[in-house]
Amino acid sequence: MILPSVFKQIEPTFPAGLLDDPLLLVRVRATGRSLLFDCGPLHHLAKRTIKSIDAIFISHAHMDHFMGMDAFVRHSMVSGRVYDIYGPPGMAARMERKLGGYDWNLAEDFWSDLRVHEIHPTHFARTLFSGSQGFRGTFLGREERRDALIYANGHLQVEAALFDHKIPVLGFRITEKPGFQVDPKELESLGLIPGHWLQELKKNYYEKKLSLPIRVNTREGEKKLSGEDLYGRIRRESPCTSIGYLTDIGATAANFKQAGELFADLSLLICECSYLRNHKDKARRSFHLCTDDARKLAEKLRPRFFLPMHLSKSHLKHPQDLYRELRLPTDVTLLQLPSYQTPRPRLCDEIEPPTSWRDQEEKESS
Ligand SMILES: [Zn+2]
Repeated sequence: MILPSVFKQIEPTFPAGLLDDPLLLVRVRATGRSLLFDCGPLHHLAKRTIKSIDAIFISHAHMDHFMGMDAFVRHSMVSGRVYDIYGPPGMAARMERKLGGYDWNLAEDFWSDLRVHEIHPTHFARTLFSGSQGFRGTFLGREERRDALIYANGHLQVEAALFDHKIPVLGFRITEKPGFQVDPKELESLGLIPGHWLQELKKNYYEKKLSLPIRVNTREGEKKLSGEDLYGRIRRESPCTSIGYLTDIGATAANFKQAGELFADLSLLICECSYLRNHKDKARRSFHLCTDDARKLAEKLRPRFFLPMHLSKSHLKHPQDLYRELRLPTDVTLLQLPSYQTPRPRLCDEIEPPTSWRDQEEKESS
């Protein structure tokens, strides 16, 4: 399932669907590399997709969010790369126990490393699990957290905050960095003629070499200009788009306040909605959200799009109940499962013979 194309640089998808265990893959279009948010049923993914993952962000270590880590390690351990894994306090000990469940006596020098970053309220704690050392953990140290930012590459950044699910749970905000964009009106007003120099300027922008001078075509002929000045004058300003990913939190005032701080002005909120209204008591007991809670959150945050996920399979029997109960404000677009679901396999006694066969059988028996 691919989400709406409001994003320019990134492509969020739910390769395992919206039911049951969550798995959000965010692919960077320009590089083909990906980030993974939660680690549910990873075996759904093609090997080449797993190989495109640079970093994994785990909301918490309940089994439905963490069990895919084994499949990830299996497919990535001999690639010789360093993978970054972000998780709540206690993640390093959980990785150590998970990796400690296997024998690694045949580990080779070129095997991959897993670098675990625990996100605490005021600091990071980092531990390296080196493949060449049979994934034995080495504590790398602590680093102060100055703001919500936990990860960035040339195309996006990830911020995080801790929520309460009777254990600490991370919510994530993924924001696209502004891409290279040129305003044709500015080109016209400056007498610039589009040409190969625009490609060169774009390349310099992404390679962080805008300080290099550039030869441009103008109505008066060729000119050499400073790349930085030039882009500053012709760039088109547009707002950055962002995704909020929130799952498995209790419907408490403190959690809603934290959501308000991390998720202001979102393009898309991807939010757990495990229970219908009539199972509110179950939601309260297990510190999950029901439809009424998710609606209140959408009313508070007013994202442009709202996608309920981590849905119980029981929703499938009456999918419209879920969407009817959510009743979002008119400025928030609710993204829904398609009305058509892949049919389940049929049992032998559920298959009827064609009518012509039945007619023939009736004739023969009479
Ligand atoms: Zn949970």
